[in-house]
Amino acid sequence: MDKAIAMKLTILPIKDLPLIHAGDDLPALIAERCVLKDGDIVTIASSVYSKAKGHTRRLADITPTPRAQRISKMTGEDPRFLQSILDASEDVLIEFPFILSEVAGGHIGVRAGVDQSNIEDEMVILLPPDPMKAADEIREAFRKITGKNIGVIITDTCGRAFRRGQTGNAIGWSGMPAIRDFRGEKDLFGHVLKITEEAVVDEIAGIANFVMGESNNGVPAVVVKGCERWSGHDNLFFSKKEDFIRRALCVRAKPKKKE
Ligand code: GDP
Ligand code: MN
Ligand code: MN
Repeated sequence: MDKAIAMKLTILPIKDLPLIHAGDDLPALIAERCVLKDGDIVTIASSVYSKAKGHTRRLADITPTPRAQRISKMTGEDPRFLQSILDASEDVLIEFPFILSEVAGGHIGVRAGVDQSNIEDEMVILLPPDPMKAADEIREAFRKITGKNIGVIITDTCGRAFRRGQTGNAIGWSGMPAIRDFRGEKDLFGHVLKITEEAVVDEIAGIANFVMGESNNGVPAVVVKGCERWSGHDNLFFSKKEDFIRRALCVRAKPKKKE
């Protein structure tokens, strides 16, 4: 990315999308509501991607295990909801005051990113089971529909450590590296940067999430125009070995016996 370029970002909500149901063609619905150009980045809420693909569950179909029932006594949450979270989790880091777990693909999220909002009563929305593949597929669909090279970021609203307030995070992405790597570049004083990696996909997800809103805004997709490209890598998620916060949490949180 040329340092001298001043970016002029335009962030456009996709308006008038219907309520999304299983089987809906999300890329087509989006593409017919905006003009997409090469280099645009389309951000899509994971909740609507999952609804379109049927990654949802009915609470009535879920039988809670003893573990879900035990956690329910601590958190007061519906054991069937907790079971849907446990089923979506590859590795549970903590159970209380909420389940914090790793889901497929390496993202760690509160309640495994399972949502009870923006869906009918007694239903839950799961995160996409393979969000990177989901982003690739949507990008390919946009290529087919528009002939353009569009970047895609699948977002979710996530809590974070140390600070109050949720922000948008990138769950899956395609057409750009997750991280802009500054290591090896020089600062204003000629010092070589040794540590700085910028999670640009999360920053874009953050502003897109702000434009989407959380409740009844009805804007599950946002187009970002004018974003210069960056170079870096895709290792957004710490490996288990690197992640010392996870290690610290897990020391005290492992269940005592197998349930
Ligand atoms: P998440 O951040 O991926 O969990 O998704 P949210 O539930 O926070 O929804 C993000 C945005 O999409 C909000 O503006 C919602 O009102 C909107 N939204 C959610 N589901 C639908 C839908 O089926 N149709 C439309 N048009 N908007 C939706
Ligand atoms: Mn969500
Ligand atoms: Mn949200």
